[in-house]
Amino acid sequence: MATMIKPGLRPEVERFLSSRVQQGVVGGRDVAALDGATFTTIDPGSGAHLAEVASMQAADIDRAVSAAAEAFRGWSALPVNERAIWIHRLADEIERRKPIIGEIEAFDAGKIRQQAEGDVQVTVDTLRYFNNMALHVQRRNALPVAGHEAWTIRQPWGPCGFIFPWNFPFLLIGWGIAPALAAGNTVVIKPAEDTPLSAIYLAQLAREIGFPDGVINIVTGLGETAGAALANHRGLKRMSFTGSPEIGRLVGEACGRNLIPCKLELGGKGAAVIFDDVDVKATARKLADAITFHTGQVCCDATRWLVHEKIYDEFVSESVACLKQTKVGYQMDDGVQMGPVVSAKQQERVLGYLERGRSEGAELLLAGGAAKVAGRSGFFVKPALLAGSLDNIAAQEEIFGPVAYLAPFSDEAQAIGMANATDYGLANSVWTSDLGRAARVAESMVAGNSWINAHNVFPHGVPYGGVNKSGMGGGVNSPETLFDYWRSQSIVRPLR
Ligand code: NAD
Repeated sequence: MATMIKPGLRPEVERFLSSRVQQGVVGGRDVAALDGATFTTIDPGSGAHLAEVASMQAADIDRAVSAAAEAFRGWSALPVNERAIWIHRLADEIERRKPIIGEIEAFDAGKIRQQAEGDVQVTVDTLRYFNNMALHVQRRNALPVAGHEAWTIRQPWGPCGFIFPWNFPFLLIGWGIAPALAAGNTVVIKPAEDTPLSAIYLAQLAREIGFPDGVINIVTGLGETAGAALANHRGLKRMSFTGSPEIGRLVGEACGRNLIPCKLELGGKGAAVIFDDVDVKATARKLADAITFHTGQVCCDATRWLVHEKIYDEFVSESVACLKQTKVGYQMDDGVQMGPVVSAKQQERVLGYLERGRSEGAELLLAGGAAKVAGRSGFFVKPALLAGSLDNIAAQEEIFGPVAYLAPFSDEAQAIGMANATDYGLANSVWTSDLGRAARVAESMVAGNSWINAHNVFPHGVPYGGVNKSGMGGGVNSPETLFDYWRSQSIVRPLR
């Protein structure tokens, strides 16, 4: 039996967590690892044991890919409107159970409950967005070719692999699989070992509503075993990986060997460029909110704040004042603004970067460090601000915690140069009341995404993805993503 982690748990969540072992879901059935191995997932806010989870190996992954290949025959052959009914039913049921999934996610990932529910809604909206779009895409296109009758058709690829990280477990599943399913593919999902529970719950929910077996398969396990086996599997027709650049390289190499298309959504070291014509207090507040959102464990966060020298001192003091007020606490408690980081390893990483940054000469504007939360032995950290040379390790590497690195600039060209002085290229923002300058600077920053007077904005229809060390393969969340999940086939008939 799992430990009771909080009185007042929803009965459905308590029932879900009471399973002795949380298993993978393959071909619609709960399956243990063939060798019976398990790993543990815990609540990062209290350290309480949540569940034992099947630790799958290569042979288990084989079974899941075979199930997805088998299911592909029926799923891809369904008329598009019938497939759409299933996906809408799935979205409706996820929405109906949003509080349950949100609670599971909040416990497993250390997410503030309302934010976890928000992530669930994003998945619902993404399923509907791609589902509706797929209904209206022309699958058969005539080509005007002299002397020939010619046309192209769009065909789904087959079983697609997805490997996800722990920071937005349920939301990223939605971004990933929604276009794949709507296009007629089947999926094998490997959630992160720190946060496997919402993925398992999703597959159980799909089974309960009669969603066709084998279309959504969940394989649980460690990265070096289950993840590597999935990334290298020769039965997959496409792969999508979200995570660190280091593992992304391994997954990309495996896909290169197997000659299958691969999407890589990787890390970031985003800049916010703040000009001297902003409302300093309001901008400091927004960036403080951005860096503390999900305890800074956000790939596209603004972690380098480049501030015009005329307002630098004022901006520093406003930011320090905002961040000092951040209420750090247990993610399930009311009024908490920043929960724990996901694991002891992640806490060590954040604290280690603060130490290394300081030892390389960064000034500590706000010290950060481990935070104590009464009655909880979770992995809490405080927000931190550093300043100094952009060569500093804390200004160059992704920390993935509530830490920003500040530096002053004197003119627009210098600011653009500083923003681009990174190997990453995921997301930046520019803050100014001069909209001409805003557009100019936004377009000059080398990254997949530039925001103006905002950070972390994701309307459907706007492509989201990275360049350079932040990823490749077309990104997510835009109409193009749907087309990525169809292969194109040409048919030609000479007329004479
Ligand atoms: P990670 O790369 O350590 O792990 C990601 C996933 O890969 C996990 O499921 C893990 O089990 C698996 N994995 C580990 N070793 C593997 C291997 N050898 N072969 C195949 N799979 C393996 O990343 P993380 O620590 O879970 O997540 C944090 C990273 O994710 C950060 O760099 C963050 O910026 C990035 N991220 C990017 C986006 C985006 O959209 N660009 C979104 C969220 C997170």
